[in-house]
Amino acid sequence: MSRRASAIGWVLVAAGSPLLAQQAAPAAPAIDNKVAAALARIDPARIASTIRTLCGFGTRHVLSRTDSDTEGTGAARQWLRAQFEAIVASSSGRLTVELQAATMPCVRAGMPREVPIVNVIATLRGVGDAGRVYVVGGHYDSRNSTGEDGKGAAPGADDDASGTAVALEACRALAPLEFAATLVFVAYDGEEQGLLGSQAHARALAAAGARVDGMIACDIVGNTLGMDGVRYDGCLRCFSYAATGNDSFGRSLARAAGYAARRHVAGFEVKLIQRGDRYGRGGDHRSFFDEGFPAVRFSEPREDFSRQHQDLTERGGAPYGDLPEFVDAAYTAKVARVVVATLAELASAPPPPRVINARLCRDRYDTELVYELPAGAAGHEFVWRETTAPDWTHVVEAGAAAPRPTRSDRLLATLGGVCLDDVVVGVRCIGADGSRSRVATPPEPDRFAQRPRGEAAPAPETPPAPEPGTGK
Ligand SMILES: [Zn+2]
Repeated sequence: MSRRASAIGWVLVAAGSPLLAQQAAPAAPAIDNKVAAALARIDPARIASTIRTLCGFGTRHVLSRTDSDTEGTGAARQWLRAQFEAIVASSSGRLTVELQAATMPCVRAGMPREVPIVNVIATLRGVGDAGRVYVVGGHYDSRNSTGEDGKGAAPGADDDASGTAVALEACRALAPLEFAATLVFVAYDGEEQGLLGSQAHARALAAAGARVDGMIACDIVGNTLGMDGVRYDGCLRCFSYAATGNDSFGRSLARAAGYAARRHVAGFEVKLIQRGDRYGRGGDHRSFFDEGFPAVRFSEPREDFSRQHQDLTERGGAPYGDLPEFVDAAYTAKVARVVVATLAELASAPPPPRVINARLCRDRYDTELVYELPAGAAGHEFVWRETTAPDWTHVVEAGAAAPRPTRSDRLLATLGGVCLDDVVVGVRCIGADGSRSRVATPPEPDRFAQRPRGEAAPAPETPPAPEPGTGK
């Protein structure tokens, strides 16, 4: 309906009466203008410069030196802190920057049993619903294949100065704007030795009672040249864990990122991978999944494994390894655009609804949904898809489904002709500015699906121990 109305608005503009057009044309949803303003601030050249500077510290291994202004992890995090602090002035006092220091247990061979980590955290306080939090992080630490002494060169351009640059650039793009929810931008330490920095952060947020409604880990988001010689720069891979079924919070967040990209980032796709991570590898989103928070990982479409975690060498007379000259900053900027669009959409929108229950009417093929809406929802809509479809295929605004209050002030809506047994249904909120929340779904009916006799219940996916040289 709104699409038709805006088409009429264009006709009036073409007729040549700007005043009439101004009065008659409905305003574009405010969220579209807000996201466009943020996207316009993303600068590929600055992303390239951030990656080059981070590589210039030689190594950012968690055990590398901290007594220098130009080399090692200590210099890297002081530089990152200064970059985030330079953004504070644009935020009307809502952005604060801190270092989170912790001592984390470590089980990795060749490492001490306790490792000190320092995360760099920038927090853009929300206005109206500051207790709801969205996090984007990249890990600024790096490693090579020699060992864990923190001494050899480990530029870590793609893994993961690229993801760190995305978190920093997203902070720059979003800090001047106001959001209902709080946004947190993080450069994580100690990822390569067992997700140490993100564990410290996720646990602290959980202990503080933060309502983390989404975490995006950007890790390995800078290489577009596949090992097959083909250039891959039209999509990112979005990994999400699910302990059971296909509708975990993380999968819901992954679909929300896909929605935001389709709406705001033309010509670039979020490719949903319905798997927690790549084979044999892990990342910082795992720490948030473990605390029960929706979390996803963004990675480039085709990795060049021959460069990750390598000691610097020469091939064909040229330097070889995870170096900044092999990072495609224009691509990394596209990943930053998806991050910015996703965070802006979700942090502007109300929180997701709470779906209490769903049932199939026994006398006809209609689905009834019972749910609660949060304060501040200007509207809501229903979505559904076949159980085998990766993403939502049907959307209906609530007006058409005529929700009505139940005795307990919950809402009851009937989706006519939707056979619940065959599809997944969900509800999402619409903000006054046209933004959309994550989709909330009712519980799946088959949580205790049959297993072969004598076989133990499957454990939720667990990340394997990191292996030297094979990457994480
Ligand atoms: Zn990494």
